Amino acid sequence: MYVIGDACISCGACEAECPVGAISAGDDKYVISSECISCGACANVCPVGAPQPE
Ligand code: SF4
Ligand code: SF4
Repeated sequence: MYVIGDACISCGACEAECPVGAISAGDDKYVISSECISCGACANVCPVGAPQPE
């Protein structure tokens, strides 16, 4: 599973890339749910490298 770190600037780019809809906007950054299948697509589009494998 991937997790989004504090570097997230809430640009929203990763949300549409997730094949299982696991990403949504949180209070101060975007968050990944337990449905994550660790495909890495979110990390590939993130401009600040916030999603990382846990
Ligand atoms: Fe979605 Fe893949 Fe990112 Fe997991 S690693 S949150 S499945 S895009
Ligand atoms: Fe945050 Fe990166 Fe997703 Fe943008 S692409 S919302 S900076 S995790």
